[in-house]
Amino acid sequence: MVSIAIDGPAGAGKSTIARQAAKIMGYIYVDTGALYRAIGLFTLENHVDVTQQDQVEGMLSKMEIELAFFEGEQHVFLCGKDVSQEIRTPEVSMAASRVSAVPAIRTFLFDLQRNIAKKHSVIMDGRDIGTVVLPDAQLKIFLTASPEERARRRYEELRQNGATDSYEEVLKDLKERDYQDSHREIAPLRPAEDAIEMDTTGLSLQQSVDRVIALIKERLP
Ligand code: C5P
Repeated sequence: MVSIAIDGPAGAGKSTIARQAAKIMGYIYVDTGALYRAIGLFTLENHVDVTQQDQVEGMLSKMEIELAFFEGEQHVFLCGKDVSQEIRTPEVSMAASRVSAVPAIRTFLFDLQRNIAKKHSVIMDGRDIGTVVLPDAQLKIFLTASPEERARRRYEELRQNGATDSYEEVLKDLKERDYQDSHREIAPLRPAEDAIEMDTTGLSLQQSVDRVIALIKERLP
């Protein structure tokens, strides 16, 4: 099985680039952020306070999360319900970032992510894939772009989905999430020592995908 890890901050283009690269290579694209988002959604709907250990334990004992792949597209199921669309709101993004700092929640998701990579050749994107989840991945890429460019991309994406958040709000949320993700004690966002860093500022989607494919072909002849 081939494992490729793509990590980086929100809005660096991970999901779009990884999805297209996976399609070209015939691998499965795994978006691990969706798992944290699904748990974030659960905490919002069920008023779970993740700073309270007993509430986290209670939640993990009853929550069921599953990933399924239909025609190459990932769907995330929370307690049997497909929540793939519902998890794409700014509120859920912030909730996901909060739950992702809780060690018990990261441990809970660890096996799920590892098991997918055992069964399939994957391009997996997230924050700690190269450092924690798939430390033996054949190729690790750390994608970045300037905060302004990342906020602009997120803003366009949200607008297309009908959201009314302003660019300034999106930029503020993104910087806050970057800070939380890179300063948490467990599995903070950082490049693995053997990761290749790629800055996508100013690159088109096609150029970014082409670079990733070139790296894969170089590494896996
Ligand atoms: O990638 P996405 O923006 O969907 O991720 C949502 C949140 O989930 C991130 O801000 C981060 O806090 C968390 N996350 C994580 N580890 C991963 C993937 C996502 O901590 N592997």
